[in-house]
Amino acid sequence: MPSTIRLEVVTPFGLVYRDDIDYLKAPAVDGEIGILPQHAPLVTGLEIGILHVKKGGEEFKIAISEGFLEVKPDNINVIVRTAELQNDIDVERARRARERAEKRLKSGDNSIDRARAEAALKRALARLKAAEYSLQIQDD
Ligand code: ATP
Repeated sequence: MPSTIRLEVVTPFGLVYRDDIDYLKAPAVDGEIGILPQHAPLVTGLEIGILHVKKGGEEFKIAISEGFLEVKPDNINVIVRTAELQNDIDVERARRARERAEKRLKSGDNSIDRARAEAALKRALARLKAAEYSLQIQDD
């Protein structure tokens, strides 16, 4: 019985990650989902958030935008709009994106596309969290 499962993370920009892993936690649309080798076949939507990967006693994160996750007997396919390994995240860029989105959401301007600003904020927060940048998340 295999103790690892192949994970592939793909975006329209290309392959972000491909390797055998021990465990994946992913932000599925109906809640966090944990996948071990031998998991039952599955297809689900993914929300903006973080993939937590365990591999050989190590753990790392991948920030993702929305997409899909497919679990097959020997592999997991993650197909998302964007994905960045935690060490590839430009923290300053994510901070700027967070500030822009927060400013828009707080502006009270009715002409802004709130859903778009909220999604931009979620992406920025996921990137900052994946990069383990310490931040203050304000709930207002
Ligand atoms: P920004 O406003 O900074 O462009 P965004 O959320 O609008 O942020 P996306 O459209 O989600 O950006 O991503 C566009 C491309 O830039 C993708 O390839 C994505 O992986 C990459 N990217 C976005 N933000 C970062 C970041 N902070 N660090 C590294 N790559 C990033």
